[in-house]
Amino acid sequence: MTSLVNLPNDDTNCGWYAALPNPPEPRRLQGEQSADYAVIGAGFAGLSAARRLAEHYPQARILLVDAQRIAYGASGRNSGFVIDLPHKFALEHPDPRHKQRLLGLNRSAIDQLQGLIERHGIECQWSHAGKYQGAVGERGLAYLDHFRGLLDNLGEPYRVVERDELNGVLGTNHYSRAIFTPGCYLMQPAALVRGLGASLPENVEVLEESPISGLERDSAGNWLLQGNNGVIRTPKLLLGTSIFTREFGYLRNRLLPVMTFASWTRPLSDEEMSRTGIQADWGLTPADHAGTTVRMTQDRRLIIRNTYKHVPRYGSSVSETVRRKIQQDHRKAFLARYPQLADVAFTHTWGGTYAISRNFTNFFGEISEGVYASACDNGVGAAWGTISGRLLADLAVGAGSQQLDDIQSVTGMPSLNPPEPFLGLGVRTRIRWAAWNSRSEL
Ligand SMILES: Cc1cc2nc3c(=O)[nH]c(=O)nc-3n(C[C@H](O)[C@H](O)[C@H](O)COP(=O)(O)OP(=O)(O)OC[C@H]3O[C@@H](n4cnc5c(N)ncnc54)[C@H](O)[C@@H]3O)c2cc1C
Repeated sequence: MTSLVNLPNDDTNCGWYAALPNPPEPRRLQGEQSADYAVIGAGFAGLSAARRLAEHYPQARILLVDAQRIAYGASGRNSGFVIDLPHKFALEHPDPRHKQRLLGLNRSAIDQLQGLIERHGIECQWSHAGKYQGAVGERGLAYLDHFRGLLDNLGEPYRVVERDELNGVLGTNHYSRAIFTPGCYLMQPAALVRGLGASLPENVEVLEESPISGLERDSAGNWLLQGNNGVIRTPKLLLGTSIFTREFGYLRNRLLPVMTFASWTRPLSDEEMSRTGIQADWGLTPADHAGTTVRMTQDRRLIIRNTYKHVPRYGSSVSETVRRKIQQDHRKAFLARYPQLADVAFTHTWGGTYAISRNFTNFFGEISEGVYASACDNGVGAAWGTISGRLLADLAVGAGSQQLDDIQSVTGMPSLNPPEPFLGLGVRTRIRWAAWNSRSEL
């Protein structure tokens, strides 16, 4: 049996999760279970895969299992942008059809999420707010010009917003210019993910706090998933385990575990809102990707996200000292933008782990006989996880479609990483170099 070494171990301080009421007691994996399909990982990818399997086979027994509570992993602790435009690196792809396929897939994910939110009344601050891509100094402005060229090439709509107009929305004159693109949606990720988990079809059984620590195949060709107090036997296994896919022995030397971090404030008062002139419900990502993301939620909390760490042992790679230093860096970024809010403290600082690859290629497909995986979304997994999970289920049941062809044509094999210690050294140096170069945008 493949024994997993590292299990998810996210910190207990995620603001999004803390803002929700306590969930009901979880159901855990107990005893010997047989399933027609098992899905490991209840983030965007796994939830979407399990739902789609149930749509195909309403009579099948589908088990969706997660090591933690639903919404405790990266899907519930991100910045809550559901993006339509692909990542900067994907936007630079030379083939326009590749980019149009990515756009189409992301937009289909947004439509699916919107449909589910409306059908099941999921309260998650879902908002068609669009997104600002903001520049502070010369470096950011150069990135913005480049971004503008990419949008022109694609024929995508956008609006250039200058400092004064930005100030009227963001309540800060920190940014010299931004490009506003209308297709992005914002949400409260923990609320959305919990809502998706609670509205799954009846034949999906959710098992939480049930880490799978071993995987093997029996003589009949079934997969055996070993838990602490039980085992699942299934002919078909879908992995929505993002970076933890490595722990099952797959893509081991191809995925890179990266953590990024966020801090937020309590909801601002009416007086604080008018003191800054800030409006509620917007999101800004940095023109230079190593810069700072800022969000204002519908319930008026300000969020700062920056800092990347290479985390070979996931959450436990980051010590308390490092976490405190990150919080101080967040504070610096906050005060640079909102000196008038120096009396407003952060209430939560948290991190989350996701997968990137050196060639920015996403993996999607059958990874071993009867095992299907969507892994490596390069840090923009809300839309990607949703669509790739759904299409992974289609692939597993043999339901072909134009979208399945599209996702297969835009995904591939993440490139091989050099061995340690060169890998860690290289990634750390690159992250530090990017942070230093981008210091004006932080
Ligand atoms: C601070 C931060 C901000 C971000 N901002 C954004 C954003 O604004 N927009 C965006 O699109 N993306 C953002 N991301 C990235 C995004 O969160 C991820 O890309 C996305 O959540 C990946 O979804 P997933 O379903 O593939 O994997 P995950 O959400 O990582 O889900 C994997 C699940 O597998 C479970 N699991 C793993 N191993 C096991 C095991 N052995 N047994 C059982 N269960 C297991 C985990 O507990 C986890 O719940 C951000 C990430 C962070 C950390």
